[in-house]
Amino acid sequence: MQYYPDAASVVADLRPDESVTLIRQHAAQRAARFFAEKFPGKSLYAVKANPSPDLLRSLWDAGITHYDVASIGEVRLVRQILPEAVLCYMHPVKSERAIAEAYHQHGVRAFSLDTHEELGKIARATDNADDLDLGVRIRVSSEHAKLSLAAKFGAEAEEVASLLMATRQFAQRLGICFHVGSQAMTPAAYAEAMESVRAAIVAASVTVDIVNVGGGFPSVYPGMTPPALESYFQLIHDSFDDLPISYSAELWCEPGRALCAEYASLIVCVEKRRGSELYINDGAYGSLFDAAHIDWRFPVRALNCDGEPVAGESANFSFYGPTCDDLDHMKGPFLLPATIRAGDYIEIGMLGAYGCAMRTGFNGIQTGEPVMVGDEPMETLYAQPVANDGNAVRLAAKA
Ligand SMILES: *Cc1c(COP(=O)(O)O)cnc(C)c1O
Repeated sequence: MQYYPDAASVVADLRPDESVTLIRQHAAQRAARFFAEKFPGKSLYAVKANPSPDLLRSLWDAGITHYDVASIGEVRLVRQILPEAVLCYMHPVKSERAIAEAYHQHGVRAFSLDTHEELGKIARATDNADDLDLGVRIRVSSEHAKLSLAAKFGAEAEEVASLLMATRQFAQRLGICFHVGSQAMTPAAYAEAMESVRAAIVAASVTVDIVNVGGGFPSVYPGMTPPALESYFQLIHDSFDDLPISYSAELWCEPGRALCAEYASLIVCVEKRRGSELYINDGAYGSLFDAAHIDWRFPVRALNCDGEPVAGESANFSFYGPTCDDLDHMKGPFLLPATIRAGDYIEIGMLGAYGCAMRTGFNGIQTGEPVMVGDEPMETLYAQPVANDGNAVRLAAKA
């Protein structure tokens, strides 16, 4: 991969016609080291957030040894790239063929489930294996998260006890897992979910070996500055300590977004301006799905075709993507210099998670070869404690 210091030098050198992904390997590795060192348990990378082989290798090198995979395609991919990685198949609905291939061919020993039917599938597909870590996924609230994951998966409170008891019979190690929703803006989300874990353990009176708090750890976006991650870790640690579980029980988490949001940004070209609407060469079918479909906002900065910053007062803009589809519209608002015009470039930051991973080839729109850059991401949760959260600063200072 070609290396540049920053977006300005990419624009000055390439003046690209197609959008270009900028890779910040150092940012993903800093996030990985942070989780590996500070999370009070094991951190599994949730591969769906960004399955790029380069990213997988970078995270492995920075100390992430366990991977949350959620399809047989992800199982095969990670096994091929990282032969020694521990893979945990954490999608609660799988085909028997996928379970069998994961178990017999790829060495997967950890699976999640949320029904008795799924437990039966796992038993049949692994020929009643006696070496499994099985996590029962329980339903918890998504009220503190920007993206709900509450509707689709998770056993209901009334069926959790019988499912835990049945799974206990079969599993070598029994786990309980949940997902509070993506971009959880307060650590309280995890404390509340841990109360549901406690209730489930008490109702079933089973011995639990693994508590998996899932993903949901936030990143920073315009209008969304979360408390420091240390405050999440502290609260999770405290509520884990209070659970009625054995001393040897393990704590797991599955960050996706938090590990890779800072990993990539995008350079787009302004192809046309119509008032406060900018027509750019990437969009809803490219790396900007969330900007189009859930009005997610991303940090932006404008560069002219020589890579110099475009100066002047700021104004609010929306974007149209390059396809012929009206839905290819990103409402924003994106704050850019009022003088921006066709031929200028925009760097759009924080697209490492659920951005580049969701790109399609719809309408024949191509993207340029990704390049590596060495500067800081446009936002970061990892450079210093977030100053507006007294509790987090105190925790960080103590650590
Ligand atoms: C998507 C997902 C994750 C990652 O979620 P983030 O919000 O990106 O941290 C973790 N675990 C499971 C089961 C998931 O489906």
